[in-house]
Amino acid sequence: VRSARVLALLFVAACVPPREGARSSAPAPGNAQASRRPESKSRAVPRASANIVAVPTIVEPGLEPSGITPSADAAAETRPRFRYPVVSREASRVLVLLYHGFGDVASDYNTPPSLFARQIEWLAGNVDIIAVSELARFLEGEIELPARSVVITIDDGLASAYTRAFPILKRHDARFAIGVPTALLERWHEDRAIGWRELREMVDSGLCEIASHSDGHKDLVRLREDLVERELERSRRIIVERMGIRPEAFFYPYGNHDPNVQRMTQIAGYRTGFGITANGSRLVHAATPRWAIPRQAIDGKTSPGRIAQYFEG
Ligand SMILES: [Zn+2]
Repeated sequence: VRSARVLALLFVAACVPPREGARSSAPAPGNAQASRRPESKSRAVPRASANIVAVPTIVEPGLEPSGITPSADAAAETRPRFRYPVVSREASRVLVLLYHGFGDVASDYNTPPSLFARQIEWLAGNVDIIAVSELARFLEGEIELPARSVVITIDDGLASAYTRAFPILKRHDARFAIGVPTALLERWHEDRAIGWRELREMVDSGLCEIASHSDGHKDLVRLREDLVERELERSRRIIVERMGIRPEAFFYPYGNHDPNVQRMTQIAGYRTGFGITANGSRLVHAATPRWAIPRQAIDGKTSPGRIAQYFEG
């Protein structure tokens, strides 16, 4: 009976679109974003998994396939489903990409939408694009991930994230996170910064998570401690007030952080802190410190092939 059940689960795992099983789960306290994923009826079956056929597998008693625990249905329901099979925690590598603006003129902080479309197409066809909250759960030891996955982060809350990048991300059903510097969002003219209404639309799509990118976008390493605390607290409070979402990830302004800033981010109650790639630490793995997650900056000239190379180390 048990083997038959395992087979049935294997078949379901092969046929269900990624993460569909997660939607019926009760939201964890303080994890409002995870519960915002809508019914995934619009999620198409990814190309590669459309051809997967359930292969009969003999499972030895007591030897369950990785990631499937037939005796814990509730746990299985909250576990995200990925396109590629999960592997041992030690074997997983995650590449976190950092974008800023999107526009036709390529620069260090501006990616042309045509190039962005090719990058996302490559990623969607070759790796799992996972959410920031899923990376947090992996680093907390809660879930396993495929061998290679990518996280898409966009800093600064520029209008072009909505007007130029979002249509492409939506087309590929790609999850992403926007790091919002709250004071700038409140102050900037609407044609430059994204509006709260647009952020709401992106969150409601089920693809977007909101991170804090501080309040005033100052270099926290050079800031007095009480002002760092203010940046951490105030930005979160404004996002909660405006969107009813408690951001759990903090994207350090300029990617700058040190052990003290990391400690204060942790004490302030954030689950993760994201910086920028330092020498030789491009890929995130199970032992990466949660408040010092490196991100690879993507500029206006990064080819999909270059992104593929980043996975090599
Ligand atoms: Zn920034």
